Amino acid sequence: MPLTLVRGHRFFVEASRNSLSRLTHQLLPPREDISIRTFSQHSPKMAPTDTSAIERNRAIVISGPSGSGKSTILKRLFKDYPDKFGFSISHTTRQPRAGEQDGREYNFVTKEVFQSLVDEKGFIEHATFGGNSYGTSIKAVEDVAEKGRTCILDIEMEGVKQVANHPTFPRPRFLFLKPPSMEILEQRLRGRASDKEEAIVKRLKQAEKEMQFAESGEAPHDKTVVNDDLDRAYQEVKEFIVG
Ligand code: ADP
Ligand code: 5GP
Repeated sequence: MPLTLVRGHRFFVEASRNSLSRLTHQLLPPREDISIRTFSQHSPKMAPTDTSAIERNRAIVISGPSGSGKSTILKRLFKDYPDKFGFSISHTTRQPRAGEQDGREYNFVTKEVFQSLVDEKGFIEHATFGGNSYGTSIKAVEDVAEKGRTCILDIEMEGVKQVANHPTFPRPRFLFLKPPSMEILEQRLRGRASDKEEAIVKRLKQAEKEMQFAESGEAPHDKTVVNDDLDRAYQEVKEFIVG
C-alpha cells in the first residue's frame, strides 16, 4: 500500500478501509476480556492529510534521556497554557505505569496492533526503546493541528532523526533536555520509582547514546536546556517554546 507524496505538503496514505478492517479481525479476534482498544479505533486517517495546519503552527519536538524531566516540564507548560499546545499522544507497546491512562499519556496497544499501523504507514516515525515500540501516528499530530494548537512531540533519538529527515512532515523545532549529569539522571530515574531495575538499566544505557547523539553533528537540536534547577530550566524551555 503505497505512500504517495503530492506537492510536497500532503500525505496520501492509500489503503482500503475494507482490507484494514479484515486485517484487524485477523490480528485481534474480538474478545470482551481485552480492554486494549482495537486497531480501528487507532487507525490513521486514510483520507489525504493536509499538513498546512502543521506548517502554520510548527510542531515542537522535545527529546532527552529518559528521566531528564521532559514530562515534568511539559506538564507545567500545559498547565500554564491550556489552550495553546497539544500533546501528540504516541502509541506504545509498553505497559501503562501507575496513574497513566490509555489515550492520555499514550495509546497503549499490543505488538500486533502496533505492527499493523507500521504496515499501513500510519506513523510519521516509530522506534524501539527499552524493548518496547513507540510511534507518532499521523492522526495524533493531525488531531492537535486541527484544534489550531501547536503540537508537542516527546520522542527519543531515532524518532528525532526520522522526523528531522522526513520527506514531507514540516520541520519542527527541536529541543534537547539534558540532565545535569549521568549520576543525577540515575538518581532521578530511581527516585521516580516507576520502572523495574531491568528497565532502569536499559534506560541508563540508552541515555548515554542520547547524550552522544545530542553532541554529534548529526543532531538537529535548535536548543539544549540543562535541567538542573527545575524552575530555571522551565523558564528556559518556555522562552524557547513560547518566545
Ligand atoms: P522524563 O519524562 O524525561 O522521563 P520525568 O519528567 O519523569 O522524566 O522526570 C524524572 C524524575 O525526575 C521525576 O521523578 C521528576 O519528578 C524528577 N525531576 C524532573 N526534573 C527535576 C529537577 N529539575 N530536579 C529534581 N528532580 C527532577
Ligand atoms: P517512557 O516509556 O518513559 O514513557 O518513554 C521512553 C522514551 O520513549 C522517551 O525517551 C520518550 O521520549 C520516547 N517516546 C515516547 N513516545 C515516543 C514516540 O512516539 N516515538 C519515539 N520515537 N519515541 C517516543
